[in-house]
Amino acid sequence: METIGVLAVQGNFREHAAMLRRLGARVVEVRKPEQLDGLDGLVIPGGESTAIMRLIRLYGLEEAIERFTAPIFGTCAGMILLDRNHLGLVDLAVERNGYGRQVASFEADLRLEGDEEPLRGVFIRAPRVVDEGPEVQTLASYEGEPVLLRDGRFLVASFHPELTDDTRVHERFLELVRQEANVRA
Ligand code: GLN
Repeated sequence: METIGVLAVQGNFREHAAMLRRLGARVVEVRKPEQLDGLDGLVIPGGESTAIMRLIRLYGLEEAIERFTAPIFGTCAGMILLDRNHLGLVDLAVERNGYGRQVASFEADLRLEGDEEPLRGVFIRAPRVVDEGPEVQTLASYEGEPVLLRDGRFLVASFHPELTDDTRVHERFLELVRQEANVRA
């Protein structure tokens, strides 16, 4: 069984934890750097990226996350934190609240790569990808723009898969965790 940390300083960490437990993972709510030791993966949830960034600096978690070597899944604000302009772990540049004020929050059916069944995407003041490196793979798009991407051991979503009953995106993250554990073993 995998042990997955969920960064629990601000935002939607409870919903991620509940979904991961439903899938059989052991979950640790992470608020201190030493809680990252021994984890098989980490989720950085949505919320308010400026608040999360400030709190992880305050708690000494910024360097600890930079040193962490297992897979990381960032959603919404978590995607912002991982981009080139913040922790710089994923080869992406994103624009905060990039879908504008009028349609700041919306839902849309997305096509998930390798899957026939549409995936309901819940977008809440979502970041928009403005540039991506050559290694980054798109796993789902909205109106031709990438909204679920993978860069090596990183998975990022501009929407909120933890807010629906559909567990497929979290399942993909757990698959990535298992693959990486085999590579590192
Ligand atoms: N707009 C938020 C930010 O910039 C992200 C929104 C979210 O995570 N739902 O941090």
